[in-house]
Amino acid sequence: MRGTVTPESFISSRRLALGSLAHPPIREARFWSTQVMVVAVALLHLSVDVLQDRGTWGVPSFIIIPFLLVPVIYGAMSYGLVGALGPALTGVLVLAPTELFLEHTSLELWGGWSNLAFVVLIAALLGDRFEVAREVLVERTSREVRASEERRFRLAFDNNLSAMAVVNDEGRLERVNEAFCDLLGYSKGELVGQALEDVTHPGDVAMVLSRGADPERPLAQGRLIKRFLRSDSRAITAELSESVMRDEAHGATFSVVSLRDITEERLLTQRLADLALHDSLTGLANRALLRDRMVHARAQSMRDGSRVVLYLLDLDNFKGVNDSLGHAAGDELLVAVTRRLRAVTRDVDTLGRLGGDEFVVLAVGLDEGDSRALAQRLLDVFATPFPVEGHQITQSASIGVVMCEASTISSCEDSIRSADIALYEAKRRGRGQIVTYTPAMSSRSTESFQLGQELALAASRGQIDMHYQPIVDLRTRDVVAFEALMRWRHPERGMVAPDVFIPLAEENDLIVSLGALALERAAAAAAQWHAHGATWQVGVNLSARQMNDPGLLDLIESALASSGLDAEHLVIEITEGIAIADIDAAIDTLNMLRRRGVSVVLDDFGTGYSSLAYVARLRPSTIKVDRSFLHAATANATDRNVLAAVVNLCRQLGMVVLAEGVETLEEFALVSELDVDLAQGFLFAAAVPASEIPRVVDEVRAQFPARVVRESAPRQILA
Ligand code: C2E
Ligand code: CA
Ligand code: CA
Repeated sequence: MRGTVTPESFISSRRLALGSLAHPPIREARFWSTQVMVVAVALLHLSVDVLQDRGTWGVPSFIIIPFLLVPVIYGAMSYGLVGALGPALTGVLVLAPTELFLEHTSLELWGGWSNLAFVVLIAALLGDRFEVAREVLVERTSREVRASEERRFRLAFDNNLSAMAVVNDEGRLERVNEAFCDLLGYSKGELVGQALEDVTHPGDVAMVLSRGADPERPLAQGRLIKRFLRSDSRAITAELSESVMRDEAHGATFSVVSLRDITEERLLTQRLADLALHDSLTGLANRALLRDRMVHARAQSMRDGSRVVLYLLDLDNFKGVNDSLGHAAGDELLVAVTRRLRAVTRDVDTLGRLGGDEFVVLAVGLDEGDSRALAQRLLDVFATPFPVEGHQITQSASIGVVMCEASTISSCEDSIRSADIALYEAKRRGRGQIVTYTPAMSSRSTESFQLGQELALAASRGQIDMHYQPIVDLRTRDVVAFEALMRWRHPERGMVAPDVFIPLAEENDLIVSLGALALERAAAAAAQWHAHGATWQVGVNLSARQMNDPGLLDLIESALASSGLDAEHLVIEITEGIAIADIDAAIDTLNMLRRRGVSVVLDDFGTGYSSLAYVARLRPSTIKVDRSFLHAATANATDRNVLAAVVNLCRQLGMVVLAEGVETLEEFALVSELDVDLAQGFLFAAAVPASEIPRVVDEVRAQFPARVVRESAPRQILA
């Protein structure tokens, strides 16, 4: 391990001064160099002897001996006794044979041996001293190393940034570090001797590290997440790591415990999870959380049979707010709606937003009456306008409701889908409706999906026809116009009514091409009538989608151009709903049509949103009173009076009144009496193919003989 000091490394760092038997000297070059030095000195001595013998030169022994002592002392210092005696004995071995057997050496026997003996003695003494000195040093350094090691470990433990504790075999804290104290807010003195359980959150005391079932291996290592109580009684969440160990010397087990404070981390994770489950604008539950709540609701319903109700709420024409006032205002409106929805729901209900302008309420445990009342409360939220950026916004909503019995709750997605189908049905019935889901709706919706697919191909397969229904002037009894009504000849279903397929086409862009087709065919048919001398107008119905289409005028131009029909013989029928959705745009479009000479009928007057204020602003050429209004007027006096007032008002505004759905002679009498201008209905004829128009006109003439009206020419839709 890096940075730790072992006795060996400590000694080797002082090798020159001490030497070591752990590293035998004969393995080292330094030892052999002392041998070489001795041999060199001995050979030098011999050669000097030889030179002296020839009478040249002589070196006395007292000069040689110190040279001989240098490697010996060096060896002793490096390697002790072995290091000292080694070179000394080498010297003896080199010199002895020459001194004994070579005659020419002049070394006196006694003097030579005594010199050598002196060297060996010095070597032995020095070597021994150095040996002893080294042992003492080795002993001392290894003690120092051990102590320093222990000191380091203690420091490492005490000052470790991780909170650590040693727990003895009785489960008591034996030693704790600073971080451990800081984490729990106690002093060392207060903690040592306590059990870890004493500072554990009461709810988590039972959680222990599994020690493993294997009796052979009772030691364990592991982690768990536990809450602890600080001295200030604040709870913290910590990750506890524990290693159980055995002290072999004493046979006791102990464990080292470290704690990591993950309280903040947990909070953050929680916050992130919250974000993942809530809508950021309104703070309401999102789809993921709703799904989770549905699972719980289902479980509860299974347990106690309580009723689960899902309400899907969609703001009507919310896009209009976004488009006209901007997204900030749209957001503000959504927040305001949220506030009101919260006020009418219970805390136990889940209130969610599934994106855009779609809200959801999941309620558990309501009886049938309560759940109906809640739906009404949710709808009543929209009864008063919402103040947004200084505007008072009138916003309505539609609600789809699903009652889920325990046995029928399938998945969350299925329930939402059912609620969606009910919501769709609610929207279809107009604004501000509550519709409760029934399985029949579901089959209807799959059926309509399939029908939608087929409708996309219907026009290209030549299955779309136009039929024409006569419109009669009530004073002259003359047929003055025809309303063009679309028909779908389905190969299997027969004639599919436009009430069924027009809404389907309106859901996607199909209506634009179908509408264009209707306009073209109707204009062409009317041009034909004119070629044969008839001056009937032709009325074509327009959808909301077409009304907002910037290409509308071009479409009309091209229909007129290709058919050769005069603009004043073309009538466009729009419904009140379209006009109210965006009154300013509607006024612009109507003005444009008027400038072009095309008349406009406000269709379905008297259904739902009738407001004479709108009529006055739109100034259509004609008002077509809806058949339900007519039926009501025949049935009761009040409605009759209202109808009379409407006719009067239109007269004053210079508008023509057309009564639709005249089925009986009684209704015919009524509209005649009220001085309604024009009438249309089964009493005269239903819509027929263009080829049958001559027959139908003849029949009407036969049944309602023409009257000569002196004061004015026959009226037409054109005002
Ligand atoms: P609408 O514009 O209100 O058309 C009048 C509807 O009332 C027609 O139904 C007509 O056949 C029916 N009707 C006429 N006289 C009577 C009567 O005396 N009693 C009763 N009960 N009904 C009568 P139809 O042809 O089924 O059309 C239904 C709706 O489909 C139309 O209502 C219109 O909104 C839409 N539609 C039809 N053709 C087109 C089209 O080419 N384009 C668009 N955008 N919508 C169309
Ligand atoms: Ca119509
Ligand atoms: Ca109508």
